[in-house]
Amino acid sequence: MTTPTPTSALAPVGPLSLHGLSVEGVNQCVHCGLCLAYCPTFSELGTEMDSPRGRIFTIKSLAEGRMALSDSAVRHLSLCLDCRACETVCPAGVPYGRLIEAAKAEIERQKPGALSRRLFRWLNFGLLLGHPRLLALAAAGARLYQTSGLQRLVRTSGLVRLLPGTLPAWEALLPPVPSKADRVAPPRTTLAAPPRRARVALLTGCIQAVVFGAHNRATARVLARNGCDVLVPEGQGCCGALNAHGGDHARAQAMARETIETFEAVPADFVIVNTSGCGAHMKAYGHLLADDPAYAERAKRFAATVRDVAEFLAQEPLRGPLQAVTLTCTYHDPCHVVHGQKIKSEPRRLLAQIPGLRVVELPESDWCCGSAGIYNLTQPEMATRLLHRKVGHVLETGAEAVVTANPGCILQIQAGLGAHQSGVRVLHLVEILDRAYGGGA
Ligand code: SF4
Ligand code: SF4
Repeated sequence: MTTPTPTSALAPVGPLSLHGLSVEGVNQCVHCGLCLAYCPTFSELGTEMDSPRGRIFTIKSLAEGRMALSDSAVRHLSLCLDCRACETVCPAGVPYGRLIEAAKAEIERQKPGALSRRLFRWLNFGLLLGHPRLLALAAAGARLYQTSGLQRLVRTSGLVRLLPGTLPAWEALLPPVPSKADRVAPPRTTLAAPPRRARVALLTGCIQAVVFGAHNRATARVLARNGCDVLVPEGQGCCGALNAHGGDHARAQAMARETIETFEAVPADFVIVNTSGCGAHMKAYGHLLADDPAYAERAKRFAATVRDVAEFLAQEPLRGPLQAVTLTCTYHDPCHVVHGQKIKSEPRRLLAQIPGLRVVELPESDWCCGSAGIYNLTQPEMATRLLHRKVGHVLETGAEAVVTANPGCILQIQAGLGAHQSGVRVLHLVEILDRAYGGGA
């Protein structure tokens, strides 16, 4: 009689991982299902494999070698927004964001897709995000496309529908690119209004820098009014958040190393970030570079200094005088602020201090708008469903403006409101604060 092989003998030895990226956290899941009601894709589709629990099961099966990465598994995993709403409610502390990032990196390794897709990823993740000058050039080209009348022609003639792949979705979401003068970065140094509270270094970002330069300048002014010397490190580039969320792990690590080096060269107490995905990602640099002996400690030290702008400002009452901003607004929580960094009350506390501003609560305010990095381009159908849900709630509130804190959310919600021909505006939190301080006048 032969002794049956114990199941454990078939399991891989050592911590569970996908091509070197730890997914040990899958073992923390107790299958309680509490996360299901908070998952946007499960809520829309009602299928277990599109829920956090189902995806964790898939990731565990892949890591244990009990399952191959089938096209169906790729579909269910790719449909995840990486919004991390499941992480917020999970009683077992499953580090879901890390699991899905490892799974997405595995998808890119095993199933990178057709040449056109690989080219598209290289163009964005490798070329544009990795090279701020090229990104600035692309922004200048996009502005020419918009101001020359070519965009109007492409849209009205129906030519846009003939564009290949995801280009029509890209075209629809292309934000109005500001003029060169309006893309200008904040000064290298903005001195604090006394008494001085801290010296901070500001991340100006990649997309943020070319599309929302005004938000960076507003951030610097508001921080200075609140006692900060604001330094803008020269030569800074992309922090690598979009690469990490898109499964481009190696380049995300390289960008993290560069960001650490750039900011280490500046004598600041804190690194301030006004884009949610970047802030959440930079706070996780310690984990991202944990296996790199040259950077592991530096990454941990750096991550400990990163603060979201609302998180930092809300530590103290806003310094006056503040002017009235007569407006009714509502607040949309970007996923990587509320779930990625657990920052929920701080932006609301800041808004509550602005005279004249009426804030009405947004139903499902912490529900993803469908932007999720480049999700609205790669998964346009689900992104559109979530956007309709978000816009419906915004319109219910009767607010004149939606305030939020992430460029992706701003572009996505703006596009959704535009499609409804609504006059509701979408503003970054720092724009409202800046207005209360006189708008840079
Ligand atoms: S809430 Fe946490 S433990 Fe429960 S099923 Fe979801 S991920 Fe697993
Ligand atoms: S990250 Fe968001 S979409 Fe993905 S499983 Fe969790 S709640 Fe669902």
